[in-house]
Amino acid sequence: MTESEKLHNKRVQKISAQLKKFYKQKKKVRIYHGSTNSTRTQEFKKDEIVYITDLNNVIEVNPKEKYAVVESNVPMDKLVEETFKFGLIPPVVMEFPGITVGGGIQGGAGESSSFKWGLFHHICLEYEMVLGDGKIITASSKKTSDLYWGTACSYGSLGIITQVKLRLISAKKFIHLTYHKVNSFKESIKSIEEASRDSVDFIDGILFSKQTGVIMSGKFSDKKDAPVVTFRKAIDDWFYVHAEKIIKKHKKWKEIIPLKDYLFRYDRGAFWAGNYAFKRSRIPFNRFTRFILNPLFKTRTLYRFLQAINISQRQIVQDFCLPRESVLPFLELVDKMTNIYPIWICPGWVAKKYDKLSPGYLSNNFIIDIGVWGKTQGDFEHLVKLNRDLEKTLTEYKGRKVLYAHSYYPKDEFWKIYDFKWYEKLRKKYKAEKVFPDVYEKTKVSKKYNVSITKGLLNVIKSPFKLPIN
Ligand SMILES: Cc1cc2nc3c(=O)[nH]c(=O)nc-3n(C[C@H](O)[C@H](O)[C@H](O)COP(=O)(O)OP(=O)(O)OC[C@H]3O[C@@H](n4cnc5c(N)ncnc54)[C@H](O)[C@@H]3O)c2cc1C
Repeated sequence: MTESEKLHNKRVQKISAQLKKFYKQKKKVRIYHGSTNSTRTQEFKKDEIVYITDLNNVIEVNPKEKYAVVESNVPMDKLVEETFKFGLIPPVVMEFPGITVGGGIQGGAGESSSFKWGLFHHICLEYEMVLGDGKIITASSKKTSDLYWGTACSYGSLGIITQVKLRLISAKKFIHLTYHKVNSFKESIKSIEEASRDSVDFIDGILFSKQTGVIMSGKFSDKKDAPVVTFRKAIDDWFYVHAEKIIKKHKKWKEIIPLKDYLFRYDRGAFWAGNYAFKRSRIPFNRFTRFILNPLFKTRTLYRFLQAINISQRQIVQDFCLPRESVLPFLELVDKMTNIYPIWICPGWVAKKYDKLSPGYLSNNFIIDIGVWGKTQGDFEHLVKLNRDLEKTLTEYKGRKVLYAHSYYPKDEFWKIYDFKWYEKLRKKYKAEKVFPDVYEKTKVSKKYNVSITKGLLNVIKSPFKLPIN
């Protein structure tokens, strides 16, 4: 046994001991891993949490069989750093460097390679998990397969994932990215369909308005046969700003982007969510101010502020997965109901047969995710109503939300979307009921959070890098 395996086993035993204690006490617990990319306000009470913060090691990279064994709190940037030493990366890498392996599996994460590979949990081969009663087990598509499928997108409500064996693919130094300008929602969907028929590795798009957008398709490449652009340095443009400039000048444009700059291209500014902070604090939004304030606008810092200030409930932050035939009418409705732009548009996210909690568990195998993130008019009550209207409309259009954000479904409506009987059976079988809140309890927002910038700033000063524990 290697030193890192020994260390890992010790850590897992500690988690198991914590859970055994809580199981005896019948006490519901939250999983604390130090950070979050979910926008729901997270509250952690000292005597109601299981710590998994130190599960952050890459245990093995096997270049021959192309897999990695990693602890579940490893974030995306560390994972890519370690695997790319061998010329390999996971086929799905979430766009924010701080999203963890465990959080990605539990939160239904996907990205621009999802049209080819599915969601992050689809590239995971095996989980080591600690169940509610402290028992340590392994789950894969062959062994304990009901738990393997059930735990994905369950928001930690079926057990704690401590270790993951995941698939790797060969990668190249660059991504050759082609920008295709589109002039309507209809054209954007057509352009995505066309791109997915080509042999590309990545597809996503940004809609800047009802009339203007860009669909971007990427391919691994070792050649520098087009202009090279980067997105991780303070001096670089934020990616969406750059993309908008490109389509103002060109109908079609090609560029070379270094691999990590491409994978984490939306980190600075959290896509465009960071723009709101400029507006709210009345700081001009230009290259100079973005350069000066760069450290504050990487997603890890932005999320720390977002959680501390409690501001996300005052915005619409939602990802909606829709079957192909509903995408166009739903986009039209989102335009009318919110007028929020830019909108992110990303194909893929299709669930597998037993993947019942997945946002992609829909009646079609061409799914598009629509990310609507931004401020709209109206007070808090109006925003809650708007969220509810969007939830109801989404159900009518046979779509599902990604549950990382604010969810306002009444209980009966929620359990009409998800298979309650199947889920409860799993929770009983794997001893989750006494210790882990269920997925509805974990994702439903029933409170109005107080926004306080001063309190938030003090909170960040007290605990700059980790979520506070009360
Ligand atoms: C503006 C915006 C854009 C986004 N864009 C993308 C995107 O492009 N692609 C994408 O994939 N996602 C995106 N997300 C969502 C993000 O991927 C999910 O929120 C993801 O689940 C976050 O992972 P995390 O590591 O931060 O975990 P958290 O958010 O902290 O946790 C998610 C859930 O998993 C549970 N959990 C965490 N670790 C474990 C574990 N080891 N075992 C069991 N349960 C665990 C937590 O308790 C929680 O319920 C976006 C979110 C926002 C707000």
